[in-house]
Amino acid sequence: MTKILNSKNPYSWLESSLTTIHRADWYRSVQSVQGMAGATVLLDGREVINFASNDYLGLASDQRLIAAAVKATEELGTGSTGSRLLSGHRELHRELENAIASWKQTPDAVIFSSGYLANIGTISALVGKRDLVLSDQYNHSSLKNGAILSGANIIEYSHCDVQDLRKHLYQQRHLYRRSLIITDSVFSMDGDLCPLPALLDIATEFDCMLLLDEAHGTGVLGNNGTGCVEYWGCTGRELIQMGTLSKALGSLGGYVTGSLSLIDFLRNRASSWIYTTALSPANTAAALTAIGIIQQEPQRREQLWHHVCYLKETIQQRLPNLQLLPSESPILCFQLKNATEALKVGEYLKDSGIFAPAIRPPTVPTSRIRISVMATHEKAHLHRLLDVLEQVNNK
Ligand SMILES: *Cc1c(COP(=O)(O)O)cnc(C)c1O
Repeated sequence: MTKILNSKNPYSWLESSLTTIHRADWYRSVQSVQGMAGATVLLDGREVINFASNDYLGLASDQRLIAAAVKATEELGTGSTGSRLLSGHRELHRELENAIASWKQTPDAVIFSSGYLANIGTISALVGKRDLVLSDQYNHSSLKNGAILSGANIIEYSHCDVQDLRKHLYQQRHLYRRSLIITDSVFSMDGDLCPLPALLDIATEFDCMLLLDEAHGTGVLGNNGTGCVEYWGCTGRELIQMGTLSKALGSLGGYVTGSLSLIDFLRNRASSWIYTTALSPANTAAALTAIGIIQQEPQRREQLWHHVCYLKETIQQRLPNLQLLPSESPILCFQLKNATEALKVGEYLKDSGIFAPAIRPPTVPTSRIRISVMATHEKAHLHRLLDVLEQVNNK
């Protein structure tokens, strides 16, 4: 008989693990944002200019979204009370899916309870043990974990490096049944874009599926704001697009769009869609309203890009020492020596009334300050940011 001699507390490793995290300056904790979402928010009761939000078009505080959410809640209730296939499906869900499909000019769409769930459910439904996933090294956590969950063989290719991707496919594609390329469209912690046309060509050449994560492209890129696919002139080409309802759309939830058979397959095989509660009426109605506004009010997107161009140009002229990472989106990052430095600068910005977070490993390989621009920022907000960045630059 084996005796269990070890009287150690099985949970004691948690404390030592936290100590290690603290030592590296990798420790994270939440801070409360108070008041209405928007271009300015309250932190510790003090107003700061918000450069930390994914609400690119300022829709999260739009009265029409709020009214739609209230109305849906009053008519249908707070919770959807069941999964889509059992008791949770409402007409409103289908209406939103139709609106997404028609906006993106794809045959069909399906909504998930979050973008994260959309990625893990879709990837794990599409590939398995006999298959190959090729993943950009800077992909979002939800893409990476979807690939791991699928059990497929995973190759990480160098960031946006088409030659490297090609090389791996040339060497390995024939060893596997199905193959799936996964990539962010706008890289969430960098702000640059994936080379979509080249990726689509490679996918065709090597008989691979392509899943494009439009979390930060939706509502932001392209003439109609549908995302990176439209921006690159690839509308209508066969691929799998996912996105979130929680960023430019100001709500909560995720979506996948593509062919009729793809969406039908996901409704039958994506566990994170089948076995979870349907999106709440409030979130569904808010997202549906947001898509209407984005289509009717292109001036929001124009304002956003106007701000982005102004900031980029002025930073390059006035603050050449700031190491701005390459960006083609409203996400602007500048690199710092290490996590300690990034935290220091983040604190300095906050003390100066600028809310822009330090992003550190393990989220990204190198520490940085991440600024995200909103259409609803005022010129004075941008000027204040530039002044404070100048102080950082001269320190
Ligand atoms: C935010 C994000 C997600 C997850 O979306 P949620 O709706 O917030 O779960 C997925 N992919 C990328 C690239 C993201 O930035």
